[in-house]
Amino acid sequence: MVKTPTSILLIYTGGTIGMVQDPENGSLMPMDFENILIQLPELKRLDCCITALSFDPIIDSSNMTIDTWIKISELIYKNYNAFDGFVILHGTDTMSFTASALSFMLDDLQKPVILTGAQLPLGMLRTDGKENIITAIEIASAKLKGKAIVPEVCIYFENNLFRGNRTTKHYSEKFNAFKSHHYPALAEIGVNINYNTQFIHQIDEPLPLKLSTKMDNRIALVKIFPGMKNFINSVLESKELKAVIVETYGTGNAPTHNWFLDSIDSAIKRGIIIVNVSQCPGGRVEMGKYETSLDMLNKGVLNGYDITTEAALTKLMYLLGRYDDLEEVKYWIPRSIRGELSMSC
Ligand code: ASP
Repeated sequence: MVKTPTSILLIYTGGTIGMVQDPENGSLMPMDFENILIQLPELKRLDCCITALSFDPIIDSSNMTIDTWIKISELIYKNYNAFDGFVILHGTDTMSFTASALSFMLDDLQKPVILTGAQLPLGMLRTDGKENIITAIEIASAKLKGKAIVPEVCIYFENNLFRGNRTTKHYSEKFNAFKSHHYPALAEIGVNINYNTQFIHQIDEPLPLKLSTKMDNRIALVKIFPGMKNFINSVLESKELKAVIVETYGTGNAPTHNWFLDSIDSAIKRGIIIVNVSQCPGGRVEMGKYETSLDMLNKGVLNGYDITTEAALTKLMYLLGRYDDLEEVKYWIPRSIRGELSMSC
């Protein structure tokens, strides 16, 4: 029997990986896709069929929007049956947000969607981009007994494959830009690609991919700090607001001052959802452990456990877009729907 080569759809959205220096002011700006393919003749040597698509315009990921997430997810959805895996070239600045958003928007995903990028453009001698793209494509093509080894939305960067909705951009200069503080790497890459199968989502039965593109962004993010004034009240009283993520200290602690708790209380009574997420990258919320989180718990603030801010924001957008009934949204916040949080350590 002739083996059909694995087919990969490579989607270029922009980011440092494909940037060149503007000769006038020296700042980095995106270059077109043809140039990228010229920088990467190695792709022809891979044992898979690659079809490449470029966004027009290509963007620095700081300009990422919900519309771009919809564009990426629709491209995957429309091409889902024609390809074995998908690799998305993306800027590192908001890669964790996009990976988290896609993980929620693509329901019953059974094929790999691997995001990657670079800290140094492909045209530079010491670029990390080449290895990142080549390994991401290898991972997206990897199969065992005819099934994708990693049927998840992931980020591959500098020797580690992570579940996308568990990641945070940690370093802006080091090549290992991403960390997954609360979930082990799905694969570690050196001479070999070693998959940590026990941590990878396993498919029980074949199901068709479903796409949700309704994302409701009537949400806000508030970071607590010592000496803060009650400006939080003006956020909580914003007209269309539906939900707020409060980034708290350590295990989910915040001031017990009346002005703070009263603002929270009145917002919750007006139907606003408030989610507690730790501002410690490696911290998980344990509401009630200290008195400084017990009052919030009693007032109805929801526990985000070990979810990242990136995953919490995109999960809220997805849930608010999907359910009109706020009780349904509240039910799903502290529960894992795509492996984005663990309720216990
Ligand atoms: N500003 C760039 C971006 O996110 C940074 C990068 O790609 O590393 O598009």
